[in-house]
Amino acid sequence: MSATTLSGVDRPLTALHSYDVHRVRQDFPILSQTVRGKPLVYLDNANTTQKPRAVIDAMHTFYETCNANIHRATHYLGMQADRAYEQGREKVRCFLNARHFEEIVFVRNATEGINLVAQTYGRVHVREGDEVLITAMEHHANIVPWQMLCEEKGAHLRVIPIDDTGELILEEAERLITPRTRIVGITHMSNALGTINPIEQVIAMAHAQGVPVLVDAAQSAYHFPIDVQALDCDFLVFSGHKLYGPTGIGVLYGKKDLLERMPPYMGGGDMILSVTFEKTVYNDPPFKFEAGTPHIAGVVGLGAAIDYLTSLGMENIASHEADLMEYGTQQLQEVPGLRMIGTARRKASVFSFTLEGLHPNDVGTVLDMEGIAVRTGQHCAHPVIHRFGVSATVRASLGCYNTREELDALVCGLHKARRLLS
Ligand code: PLP
Repeated sequence: MSATTLSGVDRPLTALHSYDVHRVRQDFPILSQTVRGKPLVYLDNANTTQKPRAVIDAMHTFYETCNANIHRATHYLGMQADRAYEQGREKVRCFLNARHFEEIVFVRNATEGINLVAQTYGRVHVREGDEVLITAMEHHANIVPWQMLCEEKGAHLRVIPIDDTGELILEEAERLITPRTRIVGITHMSNALGTINPIEQVIAMAHAQGVPVLVDAAQSAYHFPIDVQALDCDFLVFSGHKLYGPTGIGVLYGKKDLLERMPPYMGGGDMILSVTFEKTVYNDPPFKFEAGTPHIAGVVGLGAAIDYLTSLGMENIASHEADLMEYGTQQLQEVPGLRMIGTARRKASVFSFTLEGLHPNDVGTVLDMEGIAVRTGQHCAHPVIHRFGVSATVRASLGCYNTREELDALVCGLHKARRLLS
């Protein structure tokens, strides 16, 4: 049984009953503190999420009990560290439902994953006059690496436009995928608008022309389940720190046959099979793309975050956040002068808005005095913010631990901002 909410996300009605958000909150030590004398209301999850004790403890335990370098030590601790690292990879593989462990490459973050693809796959396949296709709602992480590539190669960056609600114009996508298109880069979910893109359709359109697709799942991976085999995407990236895991660790998923044919990104230890001064033989994926000592404890923490999310159930988290979206959308409509930026039929977990006559930074400062953390500005997505004719927005973004009461506090804070600043 499912219901379509105001946010357009289908959610199973049964799942919500088993989700006890107050119990979930107890797993996050940081949430129990007061900020500026007020209970902390953390609504900056699209920026980074808070960490459950399970993640903090797993990293702590790793350093206390089995810290060593990986893939080289023959001693006991080295083997323990190896096992912890490769178990982390297996957890990511299951989380994404990837077919092979070779398809999971550890990088620092989503940004590095996109740069890796642009600098390896991109540099091999994109030539002068070719085209790289992205959308008008991309984060800078999925614009600038392609722009750099296009500049170097004399290729062109093409952009699928969006409509006034923040939805992708699919007919334009179809038109813009041409025989010159070499790769499509598309965000699964916009950090600035909350729009969930119909990536299945875009992937099908691109594949019909033989064009591979990179999905930026930095925003979607912590809100709802992802299945790379069902999506049939060629590459997908996300960051650990948005997925309730540590900073400094991220994932690039790539189809095995593509990764095998790609040149390495960085050279150094661990990415080789043999080295002489005349010639280096590279290791196989994923190791070919993991030069140097990686963030081993970060992988352990990411694995713990995945275990934690799996124990909550990604469907349950999606249901809970869809309920909050519906509630928050109704409550925010009552704030005079509030303009929601991004009203797509399918959107999740992001309220991006302006208050008439007030600068978003000033609104953010008043909210901060109330202990409410939001982000204000252009959210590393200048083009899409400008597309809506505004210079900045206030963005309140949700995570698995947020409550209706916190959205009430946000609304109260906005009324206060209007009183103080008007
Ligand atoms: N893509 C999207 C949609 C994002 O929202 C972000 C970060 O906010 C990124 C990419 C980049 O993530 P990171 O800074 O962790 O590499």
